[in-house]
Formats: sequence, C-alpha cells, structure tokens
Amino acid sequence: MFESEMLIGGEWVSGAGAVLPVQNPATEETIGTITNATTEEVDRAIRAARNAFPAWAALSPFKRAELLHKAGELIDQRKDDIARAMTSEQGKPLNEARGEVSKLAQTLHFYAEEGVRVHGEIIPNESNAYQSLVVREPVGVVAAISPWNYPAELIGWKIGGALAAGCTIVVKPPELTPFSPLAIARALDDAGIPAGVVNMVTGKGSSVGQHLVESPLVDKVAFTGSGAVGLRIQQSSPTVKKLALELGGNCPLIVTATADLDAAVKGAARRSFRNMGQICIAINRIYVAESVYEAFLSKLATVADALTIDNGLDDPAADLGAMASAEPLEKTRAHLADALEKGARLMAGGRRPEGEKFQKGFFFRPTVLADCTHEMQVMTEETFGPLVGVAPFGTLSEAVEKANDTPYGLASYAYTKHMDEMRYLSSRLDYGNVAINNVDAGIINAPYGGRKQSGVGYEHGREGMLEYFNFKHVRICFDEPEDA
Ligand code: NAD
Repeated sequence: MFESEMLIGGEWVSGAGAVLPVQNPATEETIGTITNATTEEVDRAIRAARNAFPAWAALSPFKRAELLHKAGELIDQRKDDIARAMTSEQGKPLNEARGEVSKLAQTLHFYAEEGVRVHGEIIPNESNAYQSLVVREPVGVVAAISPWNYPAELIGWKIGGALAAGCTIVVKPPELTPFSPLAIARALDDAGIPAGVVNMVTGKGSSVGQHLVESPLVDKVAFTGSGAVGLRIQQSSPTVKKLALELGGNCPLIVTATADLDAAVKGAARRSFRNMGQICIAINRIYVAESVYEAFLSKLATVADALTIDNGLDDPAADLGAMASAEPLEKTRAHLADALEKGARLMAGGRRPEGEKFQKGFFFRPTVLADCTHEMQVMTEETFGPLVGVAPFGTLSEAVEKANDTPYGLASYAYTKHMDEMRYLSSRLDYGNVAINNVDAGIINAPYGGRKQSGVGYEHGREGMLEYFNFKHVRICFDEPEDA
C-alpha cells in the first residue's frame, strides 16, 4: 500500500535483508513492511553519495535551488498521500500530518533560497601584500538519522540544509515511521535530483544506523533522537567526523502573576499535549506563581478534558491521535504512577479514553498533575507523552532555579506581561530556545538547537545550513604587477 523500496544510487530496490513489520498505532494492525538494509546495501548507498558528491558540490547553487524548489512543489502536490502514510504509521491526526508535510515543503523552499546566499569573508593581514579569504565548502557525505515523532520535518531540515550547501546524503528514517520518509524520497527523485545525491536506506538503528556512524566514508552525522543514542553515536564513531546531535528535552514553562492566564493555559495545553506530548520541545513541567496557582490548574484541567482524541484517519480534525507505539505509552504510565505515589494530585486524564474503539491502539487522555516536586520523574525526566506536572513558586528566582535544575537545555517558555520579568527570564533561562507569551519555540528562519545534554549544533535558519559547510582559509601573497 505504501512506498517500501529503498533509494540507493538513483535506483529503487526492495533490499535483501530481514523484513520488518510496520504497525498502525491506532489499531495495532500491520500496515506494511520494510527491509532491514544489509551492510552491503548501506555501503552501496554511502558509495553512491560519495560518487555523486563532486558533481553536486560543483553545480551552481542556483541550479541546486531550482531542484529544491521543484521538490518542494512536488511534496506539496502529494501532501495528502504523504500525510495519510504518516497518520497511518505515527498516529497523529490527518490535518496535523498535512500541516507537517506543508512545513517540509516550506523548508525545502527556504533552503533553496538560502543556498544562493552563501558568502565568504576577506580578512586584513599585517601586510597589504597578503589577503586572507575565508570560503565555505560543503562537508561531503552526510548520514541523517531521525526519530518517529516528526517523520517528515526532521528529515527535511537535514535534506534541505545539506543539499543547499552542496552535500550529498544517506538518510535512515525511523523504523516505526518509514513510509512518509520513503514517499518524500520518491518526490525528491521525481523532482530530478541527480542519482546518488539523496539515498534512503531503511532498518534498525542498531545495525543500519550504527553502520552509517561507523563508516569512514561518511563526513558528518546529523542525528535527531534520544540522548542515550546520541551519546553512543558520539562515542562509537571510529573516525573523526562532524556531528550534529539534536537530543531530548525536559522543557519548563513559567507562569508569573502578571501573565494573561487564559493565554498561558492555551499555550500550556498546546505545547504539553500536541502530538501526544511526543515533541522534544514539549512542556513537561509548569511552575506557576502562588497567587494564580489554583486558578491556572483548574483552567488547564478544563482545557485538557475538552481535547478530542480519535483515530487520526477517522477524524482528521481531532486534537489528538494515538501515541506512536506501546513504549512511550508505558513510560507515560510509569511517570504518572511515580508522581501519584509521591503525592501528586490528579487534575485531568490519567486513563485510556472510554469507548469500544479505544480498546486497541496506544491511546491515553491528556493528563495534568498538581503539586509536583523534583522528587518525581515527571519533573526531572523527559516523559515524551501527554503528561504535564505543575508546581507553585514563590519568587521568580526560585522559578528560574527550578526551571534550570535539569541536565537538558532545549526549550523553555514563560508567560508574563511585565517587561522586567521578560528580560530577567529570557536572560537567565539556560536554554537554546526561550519563547515568551507563545509556545512555538522553533521557526524555520531562526536557529534551533539545544544546550547541555540536549545536543550540539543547529538546525533551522541560516545556521542550519552553515552546519553543512567547512571553512577554508586561503591566504594569498600578491606582488605589484611589473608594469603597474
Ligand atoms: P532514538 O534515539 O531511539 O532513535 C532515533 C533514531 O536513531 C532512529 O532512526 C533509530 O533507528 C536510530 N538509532 C537507534 N540506535 C542507533 C545507533 N546505535 N546508531 C545509529 N542510529 C541509531 O529516538 P526515538 O525514540 O526514535 O525518538 C525520541 C527521542 O528523540 C526523544 O528523546 C526526543 O526528545 C528526541 N527528539 C529530539 C528532537 C530535537 O530536535 N532535539 C526532535 C525530535 C525528537
């Protein structure tokens, strides 16, 4: 039913490795299979990318831009089909999947434009006879490895930045959600991107992903996923290569006494529960000024209880769908049980939705917990599920101290109407992204990256493309022409 062949050196191949089933998380039915690519197939993809690199790097950036624009247009035209594949394999409602595919198309258009604006520098030397030029050259072959929560966008950021810079790429999509990425690869191929520039090999992280990381022919690994796997990648590469690691988060929201409470509740519900909380920048924990604590809690519980949940194919406009697999659901339940045992108050959710159709599938009601402390996992670990912990704070410095009390540093949020509070919070929150009076911390034209254990490197924006370049310093000594 869905695209399942791999793209290697411009050819679509079914692969000789073991067959892996792919499940619809809303029904637990098998919807198709992929191949666990063999070592030989992964090597073939890397060699294809290596061979395609010189010509792609030498192509005019304007020509590369034309092809990226074409790919963006095709993906937009195929939005409904790609979104259907995504909802079937990932669980998010169809309208949300369509939105993600549109954002992928915009990403390709954005990097098409950025690719023609790559500038160098001329640096003065002690003597005017010398001139130092700093030029940017593409890194080479990129291995892109991504998770299942945003199957299209997270691959798009890597493909867009890499291709615009003149790099070639081998993509390993997540094994839970391979079909929408394969449909994207098909569109890139149909757009006329030359053979070998984009390759996609499917299969398990432990074999296919690890082999990409270990290959001496790969110049850069662009990884999005869990901290544990990111660290393993950093430690297990046998040769020096560039690394970009976009890892997990444990993101706080601070609501001060001056905040617009309804706006804060709306933002909290969106960023805690969208995509069933399976977002690296999801709000995991909320600190609310004591004077508005109970009012905030009861409003958030009401909004959470009103969110609709359904099989995302049956109701494209549902607020929430199924979680992507049994694993994040189990972790959500475990964090909930841990918090309740340690004295948290259940304000909303905490159970599977009622009704016959929810007896199967990985569904859970959005859950709000009050009176949480840092003894509880929900406040200190990434849940990656529809669960949020709330706690009161006395002073703003106490709120910041709690918000920064984590090994992570991806995104943080605050709602406040006071300029002094805005400045205090934005400068003291130790995060790569701080969103104030909104919860959309990542936009395509601004850099996005984590600190501390949330990773290294940037995606989005100009910075997201510059990660795919090496600098070259060219120092030239000139003589005056003899007849000058
Ligand atoms: P994961 O780390 O288990 O898997 C991510 C990818 O890595 C998958 O494609 C997997 O097959 C592959 N992989 C697994 N083992 C590997 C190995 N040894 N070598 C190479 N590749 C390997 O993560 P997940 O469970 O799929 O995704 C959830 C995690 O991703 C969460 O922690 C979330 O916060 C994080 N995430 C981060 C961002 C960000 O931008 N910072 C965005 C989305 C998700």
